[in-house]
Amino acid sequence: MKNIFASVNAIYVFPHMLRQGEKDPARRPMCPVCRKYFYDVTTLRRHMEIHDSQRQKYVCKYCMKAFCWKNHLQSHVRKVHMPKT
Ligand SMILES: [Zn+2]
Ligand SMILES: [Zn+2]
Repeated sequence: MKNIFASVNAIYVFPHMLRQGEKDPARRPMCPVCRKYFYDVTTLRRHMEIHDSQRQKYVCKYCMKAFCWKNHLQSHVRKVHMPKT
């Protein structure tokens, strides 16, 4: 999942992306994880921290596999670790 942050850094390279409050939606910075557009790179950078903390948050207590989303972890636990009933 390191490539998420590599992509974000690549966005910063484009000077037109660094302008604050870009009015053209097509030129706004996009989150590479959830593909949402943001008003400026500051907002995007702040948003990326959400993905980072979520990544740390949902760790399987059985096999220590990490998941971005709570429902991904829940379905993993049900599928892999829960005995069939
Ligand atoms: Zn996102
Ligand atoms: Zn697991």
